[in-house]
Amino acid sequence: MNTLPDISETEGSGFRPAPDMAEWMRETFIDEEGGLSHDRHAHLRDARIAVLWSSHEYERRGQRVLGKAEQPPPHGIYGWDRGRMMQQLAKWFGGWFDGESPDFLITLYEPYVANCLEEGRARAICALVEHELCHCAQQTDEYGTPEFSDATGRPKWTIAGHDAEVFVHEVARYGAYSDELKDLRTAFEKGPSTDEAVVRGVCGCGAPVTG
Ligand SMILES: [Zn+2]
Repeated sequence: MNTLPDISETEGSGFRPAPDMAEWMRETFIDEEGGLSHDRHAHLRDARIAVLWSSHEYERRGQRVLGKAEQPPPHGIYGWDRGRMMQQLAKWFGGWFDGESPDFLITLYEPYVANCLEEGRARAICALVEHELCHCAQQTDEYGTPEFSDATGRPKWTIAGHDAEVFVHEVARYGAYSDELKDLRTAFEKGPSTDEAVVRGVCGCGAPVTG
């Protein structure tokens, strides 16, 4: 059984690497044998995914950010900004991937995850983590074939956008008027494909799953 790391003792310590969480994410969602493994993440078996806890509150467009996936270093960062960021990444993750830099950096808002753990909302943690993993994608060509780097033979990585971005208001007014919304409606109608028992088992928090 894969048990979520205990983070209750370390809350409020700014940014810090989350090796236990990274391992749990890989064992649970990416490895073929993982309790919540999905083919959608199969390409990530080759990916170097760094995971960072943040205890800093961050609001974007009036919403609290709970997680973020990015390809370090971010585009548009040059010169000293880039150098400083790369040095920081090397300090945090230099020992993770035999000295190679990470393909993806996932930052998780620690107080939220800690709170979910406390309240036994394992399902909410799994949803957040899998949301961020869905952003960690492999580039495809115009026919949808996955692309690989000529230089390294490794997948070409990219950050995938959301399948659907929507206001509840527009759906209330116009229903599922686009392909994305129709897909969303189908998913709602089918219901979740993971049951509570599976989520509870995987997270091992023992508390009833309410989230
Ligand atoms: Zn997202």
